[in-house]
Amino acid sequence: MTKVVVTRQIPGNSIVQLQQIGYEVTVGSQDRSMTREELLKAVIGADAVLTQLQDKVDEQFLATAGPQLKIVANYAVGFDNFDLKAIQAHNVIATNTPDVLTEAVAEHTLALMLSIARRIVEADIIAHKQNQEFGPEVLLGTELKGKILGILGTGRIGSRVAEMARAIGMEIYYYDIKQNPDLETKLQAKFIPDPKELLKQADFVSIHVPLLDSTFHLINQDTLSLMKPTAYLINTSRGAVVDEQALTEALKNRQIRGAAIDVCEHEPKMCPGLESLMNIIVTPHIASATWEARTAMSDLAVENIIQVLSGYPPVTEVKG
Ligand code: NAD
Repeated sequence: MTKVVVTRQIPGNSIVQLQQIGYEVTVGSQDRSMTREELLKAVIGADAVLTQLQDKVDEQFLATAGPQLKIVANYAVGFDNFDLKAIQAHNVIATNTPDVLTEAVAEHTLALMLSIARRIVEADIIAHKQNQEFGPEVLLGTELKGKILGILGTGRIGSRVAEMARAIGMEIYYYDIKQNPDLETKLQAKFIPDPKELLKQADFVSIHVPLLDSTFHLINQDTLSLMKPTAYLINTSRGAVVDEQALTEALKNRQIRGAAIDVCEHEPKMCPGLESLMNIIVTPHIASATWEARTAMSDLAVENIIQVLSGYPPVTEVKG
């Protein structure tokens, strides 16, 4: 019997679809990811595995699963948990869930940007604790209109963030390894060929690059020191793109004004010291957590599995 492992419960009805085809489907817990030990045990003999970003798909995983494994379908657009060389060496297809979460992540990025600039979380805490009256200098924030948003990585999500930010009057500067003429025409976006120059000029910096060797700690002590003291850093990409220890120091020393992040370097843990700072907002990797996006991610991951197990090409394959 064809065996499909879904390492953690996912929203929507797509698992039923797999069962209706007649596959033997094993589904992990709703509340937590599998431990490494549980994962390796679960994938033995699997033909397809629907993975979460915490599930490392490496040589050990592939060898343990066995030669019948045909597809690993990641429930994410990022696939830094995949060792693509090993996956290809085992003749396994790798897929992800692009596009269907773009809107949700872009909206969350805007929400973080507005919330840190207008000190929404801090204001909410103060309002709950004390009877805070109106005061001319109480909780002053920053307006977004007219400010420079520097975007690092203008792929699907970065471009959508640019559109939203432009609609509220921000100036768009961007750096990407590929220039984006569409963005320049549509939004009068300015390409800054040197990311360091972008960091110097931006009032807000928003990160949308994948986690790669070339983007690991792209934001570090040196690059943070280039930012304006009034600037904000927003990260909804991957935690390790930012050196979190350096960010913690920069926020403590008021080297930059604030940060809002959805991703941490060592999730679910936060860098010691970060949790007590009021000039940072942290959300626990929920940028794509809308009913719409998460259901569509389930549908796409399952569609990729059904396609491959039926002998057809997947919809959204990723290659090294
Ligand atoms: P994408 O592939 O469409 O865009 C990535 C862009 O980064 C591309 O334009 C690429 O050219 C650029 N890039 C790659 N290396 C670069 C480098 N060294 N310097 C500058 N630019 C570089 O991907 P996307 O769909 O826009 O997603 C972006 C990332 O967001 C994903 O890789 C993922 O890690 C992250 N993400 C996070 C969440 C979340 O829940 N927080 C959800 C979805 C995606």
